[in-house]
Amino acid sequence: MSDLADQLVSGDRAALARAITLVESTKVDHQAEARALLTAAMDRTGKAWRVGLTGVPGVGKSTLIEKLGTRLTGEGHRVAVLAVDPSSTRTKGSILGDKTRMGALATDRNAFIRPSPAAGTLGGVAGKTRESMLLCEAAGYDVVIVETVGVGQSETVVADMVDVFVAMMLPGAGDELQGIKKGLIELADILFVNKAEGENATRARRSAKDLEAALHLLAPASPHWSPVVLTGSALSGDGIAALWEAIETHRAALKRAGALDEKRRAQQVRWFHAMVEERVVAAFRADSAVKAALPGLEDAVAQGRLPASEAAERLLGEWR
Ligand code: GDP
Repeated sequence: MSDLADQLVSGDRAALARAITLVESTKVDHQAEARALLTAAMDRTGKAWRVGLTGVPGVGKSTLIEKLGTRLTGEGHRVAVLAVDPSSTRTKGSILGDKTRMGALATDRNAFIRPSPAAGTLGGVAGKTRESMLLCEAAGYDVVIVETVGVGQSETVVADMVDVFVAMMLPGAGDELQGIKKGLIELADILFVNKAEGENATRARRSAKDLEAALHLLAPASPHWSPVVLTGSALSGDGIAALWEAIETHRAALKRAGALDEKRRAQQVRWFHAMVEERVVAAFRADSAVKAALPGLEDAVAQGRLPASEAAERLLGEWR
């Protein structure tokens, strides 16, 4: 193993940060180094509990991660916080994985916080986060939290890289589930209605009931787990213990059913296929004969001179 790999598996935080920088780099030689590093570290990965967390900006993600993370490091865990934000590293004023918003955790020597890789395609950003997650595991972090805001398909992508997916909600105004996407409820293993304190407490409980009712209408995504709805306050810390308990219960349920390995295997194979497809498409687009033929075929399709199917066939025929 290289020096960097040695330092990484010894738990050296600076080495972990450097390794993630390699993974995030677009330079070809850095990418080769990153692949070698990941390959060397592969047998040290997979030991963390992978927790996804989503919610709109302002729902309280950083506040919750700070509270939960500090609690976990206090119990002897090592916690890594990563983020997936394809739109940019800044979404409506909330910066995912921003250390200043997780002050206590940022200075905790058993925690490692890394903001989202720079803007790019969702697949690209998520792939880098996924590899960073493996590096965190190799460095001995046993809880990895991946946060994302629910923009585009980012929740789906994050849900597909973690063991358990937590969706944070705000107490709704009434009985309607305003702004809550059905897809999100379908992805979440645990729903956490935040800011459930003071005057909000009653509204939060009502929202929780509505969410439970909505969940009853859906077939559970997994035969081993029915999603749970919790209320709490990231600010006061109320409900954080119950949230971790639910995460552990979910973990136990998956393990008991032997479903965890199966879930991870399926995720890894899907990821592999996605990477192959991404590379094939990139190689295709970069091919000089394809590049030369593309504008003419595009025109022909746009003007109705060629059916798209015939144009596609001809373009593929150019690829060597
Ligand atoms: P994020 O954008 O989802 O990361 O949200 P933040 O954690 O930055 O929280 C946004 C704002 O909501 C901050 O001013 C927090 O102090 C506040 N906040 C977070 N959790 C709670 C809570 O449980 N109750 C109340 N009242 N405010 C909260």
